[in-house]
Amino acid sequence: MGILSGLKNLLGQINEIDSSIYSKSRDFADVYAKNIELEEEIAARTKELEQANQTILTLNSVWDMMNSSQPLSNMLEKIVNILHEDLDYTFAVILKIEKDENGNKYFSVKADSGNRSIAQALSFINETMETYRLPYITNSIAVKSVLENKILSTPDMTGMLRMFFPRLTEEQLKEVMSGINSKSCTIIPLKYSNDKFGTMIVTSQRDNVTDTEMNFLSLYANQVELAITVAGLFEEVKKQAITDPLTGLYNRRYFEENIIKEAERSLRLKQPFSLIALDLDYLKRINDTYGHQYGDIAIKTIGNVLKKEARSIDIPSRIGGEEFELLLPGVDSKGALIAAERIRKSIENQVIDTIGGITASIGVATFLEHSDRIDELTELADQAMYKAKISGRNQVRIAQKIDSTSWQQTAIETFMDIISKRRISIDDSTMNTINLKLEKLKSNVSNENSVDAIYSVVDLISQTYNQSYKAGTTKSKLYLAEMIAKRIDLQPDEINKLRLALMLYDIGNLMIPNAILNKKEPLTEEEKNIIHTHPLLAAREILKPISNIQEVIPIIENHHENWDGSGYPEKKSGIEIPISSQIILLVDAFYAMTQDRPYRQAYDIDKIIDIIKSEADKRWSKKLVEDFIYVVKNESLF
Ligand code: GH3
Ligand code: MG
Repeated sequence: MGILSGLKNLLGQINEIDSSIYSKSRDFADVYAKNIELEEEIAARTKELEQANQTILTLNSVWDMMNSSQPLSNMLEKIVNILHEDLDYTFAVILKIEKDENGNKYFSVKADSGNRSIAQALSFINETMETYRLPYITNSIAVKSVLENKILSTPDMTGMLRMFFPRLTEEQLKEVMSGINSKSCTIIPLKYSNDKFGTMIVTSQRDNVTDTEMNFLSLYANQVELAITVAGLFEEVKKQAITDPLTGLYNRRYFEENIIKEAERSLRLKQPFSLIALDLDYLKRINDTYGHQYGDIAIKTIGNVLKKEARSIDIPSRIGGEEFELLLPGVDSKGALIAAERIRKSIENQVIDTIGGITASIGVATFLEHSDRIDELTELADQAMYKAKISGRNQVRIAQKIDSTSWQQTAIETFMDIISKRRISIDDSTMNTINLKLEKLKSNVSNENSVDAIYSVVDLISQTYNQSYKAGTTKSKLYLAEMIAKRIDLQPDEINKLRLALMLYDIGNLMIPNAILNKKEPLTEEEKNIIHTHPLLAAREILKPISNIQEVIPIIENHHENWDGSGYPEKKSGIEIPISSQIILLVDAFYAMTQDRPYRQAYDIDKIIDIIKSEADKRWSKKLVEDFIYVVKNESLF
């Protein structure tokens, strides 16, 4: 082999080696590149795993939140904060589709994670996040996402900003954009039990959305939807608990809660509110004639009229079967009368299948005008409604203000009448004292001391026939009786009658010989019979001619009747006896036992309670005894 061929060979070999080296290096580069690919793959997988983990954690926390049955607003707030803080989105917001007064759609912000640029945009156009209405533009990406139920993403941040804040000038838009470092915006549609609820929007520093992220956002959206549904159902349940199923009006509970709130507000702001009490006329006849289901239709009709006539802040409620109340915040009696009349007319104008027409009787009472107590107000509205009933139904009546001093005036006039006409026999000096007191009182009834002065007149008169009657007893008796009356929810004007009766019930004793009244020895049958005439004497001889006391007379006539029928003069029993008469009997017995008598010493309070208890169901009803004991124990009277 020549040198040339040897060289050639060598060259060939070198080439071979070279190429082998070359190919090896290519292999190496390959491996190197593969390694990098693999590493990237591993990194991506790791990231995915981390994200999956985060997803599970996040979904878990949303789930936990739902189970804690928080209000919807709290939940949505937490959801956007998780997106912003834990998942690296630069901003997250939940928008709800709403309708304005004209039925046009817009988005309202239900929750947002807070963002300086958005805040700046809002301040430029003088809006706040809570009240701003974001435009609902039919062919915009946001609405498209909602309508097509698809997650959509866009890098056009300026476009998004322009769409949601069309009132920004180009200058302002630029300024807002300069503060935004996000590169993409993703819109995730949200449903609430098949209704399109709105959308969740997130912005991110990445310029496109990976499939993994899409998957995550879609899963996350499902959880948010579930949260909204659960919270929505929760609110639905809450709503059911405050509405009446037949009419959809508020129920008694809601009404009672709100009248308390309204009264507090009214007292604080010195602003009246009105109450309209309404009762369907002749419902029994409708039920009897056409059947119960038509009665129900009549009730529903009233419900619809009340809903239609009420303002959004009014509280139309069904309190019981056919009783309705409408609470009118901020409305005085003049306004309430107009509203009531409008309601009455509207009911009268309803045409109902088979029944034809219906009517209702309505009572109106106004807080601060007629009373500043809730129980009195509802009572007054009811009384007014009742007046509308007895005056022929299908009409409106306004409450009569309870004059808190009218009973005092009546008491004074009654005593003056009794004394001046010498209907009773009292010695001259006592008579003069009483006369003087009454004259002074007459000119000055509203004086604070006038009540005490009236009581002292009663004390004086009582002492003329009962020497052991202590000054101050009348006042104590009235106080105890009032407490019991209020405990049993006696109507305010009934309480006024009770007050008068308490001052007059024993006045018949003035016609019974002193010798019998103050006798130390046991009374003979004949003497007892004379004493037993005093309720009727008071009523028939002394009080009958006095016109303004007529309604009090039955209370006085019955104040010695016993629950079991063993009393006098008529041996009435149970509920035949006016409740006020029963209260007087009990209060009178109670005070008699606290005082010495010619034939016995005073008893202590425990003994008195024992005696009164032992006579439950005999002299007075068990219920009255319970109320009496409650008052004595809770009012720290003794
Ligand atoms: P008035 O004009 O005096 O109010 O006469 P009225 O018949 O409406 O009143 P009354 O109090 O005598 O009878 C009320 C009736 O209403 C008795 C009751 O059976 C009936 N009622 C109560 N609640 C309902 C209800 O939910 N549906 C129906 N159909 N009837 C009811
Ligand atoms: Mg009725």
